[in-house]
Amino acid sequence: MRVYCDYNATTPLAAEVAEAVARATRDIFGNASSVHHFGQQAKTAIDEARSAVAALLNGDPSEVVFTSGGTESDNFAIRGAADALEAGGRRHLVATGIEHDAVLNTLKALARRGSRTTLVGVCQSGVASPDRLADILADDTALVSVMHANNETGTIQPVAACAAVAHARGALVHTDAVQSVGRIPVDVRALGVDLLSLSAHKFNGPKGAGALWIKRGTRLQPILTGGKHERNRRAGTENVPAIVGLGVAARLAMAGLATEGVRVATLRDRLEAGILATVPGTAVNGARESRVPNTTNISFDRVEAESLLIALDLEGIAVSTGSACSSGTLEPSHVLRAMGLPTHRSQNSLRFSLGLFSTDDEVTRIVDTLPRLVEKLRGLGRKPVVTGG
Ligand code: PLP
Repeated sequence: MRVYCDYNATTPLAAEVAEAVARATRDIFGNASSVHHFGQQAKTAIDEARSAVAALLNGDPSEVVFTSGGTESDNFAIRGAADALEAGGRRHLVATGIEHDAVLNTLKALARRGSRTTLVGVCQSGVASPDRLADILADDTALVSVMHANNETGTIQPVAACAAVAHARGALVHTDAVQSVGRIPVDVRALGVDLLSLSAHKFNGPKGAGALWIKRGTRLQPILTGGKHERNRRAGTENVPAIVGLGVAARLAMAGLATEGVRVATLRDRLEAGILATVPGTAVNGARESRVPNTTNISFDRVEAESLLIALDLEGIAVSTGSACSSGTLEPSHVLRAMGLPTHRSQNSLRFSLGLFSTDDEVTRIVDTLPRLVEKLRGLGRKPVVTGG
């Protein structure tokens, strides 16, 4: 039995999504900009998906712009705001230090083009402080980006409080909600943000499909220039099957939010408790009381995470050392480092993330397998005792 426990990297398609994508690929080939029947059929399919995404966020369909995923949505929010606001003298961009690379590297790119950028630190439990943010803001701050849930630890950030502080200084507020949408209730009005990124493949939808929710009236420059698609916000012929898949995933997520969240949290808690009880020298990273229900990040003393990840993979168990984009390198996680964890601990942590198809048996399999692997790796790591001359 193979066990997939890496839902924060990506998720398998829900059966209904796979069917809807296949059907749309086969049957809906019109260009949504065409006035004839085939075009209108595509437009209707897109509009249905737009309504589903808006409902999931408590937004209005007119505020949803489809993109190619979380990375594009983050780029659109940050670059679009920077471009729109720099003429008014706002050239300062702020984000937390635990953002995904889609945000951090976009800030770096804009810094090379003359923007002033500042990262807000987080406390040891991985949570950003609105007070620290308030100290950083200035009259020229254009945008503040605070992720909703962190991809490595699952910690939920105080987005609403940060948004209030940022708005008081006249800045726009973006949240990267790629790891929370579809997993916990996300309400754009309650969060008080102007811009919110989501990605379908994190909640059983297709890869290459996402959206940026843009509060009505928000000034944002498009980052793709071309035709008048998506109300002039995002040029390019729409990827109808992917958008349809995103819409179906949004409807499924909304229908299952309450029950699925509890089910997955129960599994995650059993997994976490099982590991802590059976493997000595383990600790959970990040605030345990304020997390998405599917994620736990655990450090294993005296074991290099990459070796444990490979040993688990050989046993058929797929987990991650943190963000998928940085695995394959031995770089300590920037998230755990920002939390102030010592280098060795940020290098020996694994992320377990569960989801729709996770089962009790899978949790048992992981808990039963880990102690043996950890003990073996710790044994290998022990330095041989050299005696004599
Ligand atoms: N933001 C966060 C927090 C993520 O976890 C990811 C994906 O790992 C992204 C953005 C990028 O999303 P996508 O893979 O859809 O480009």
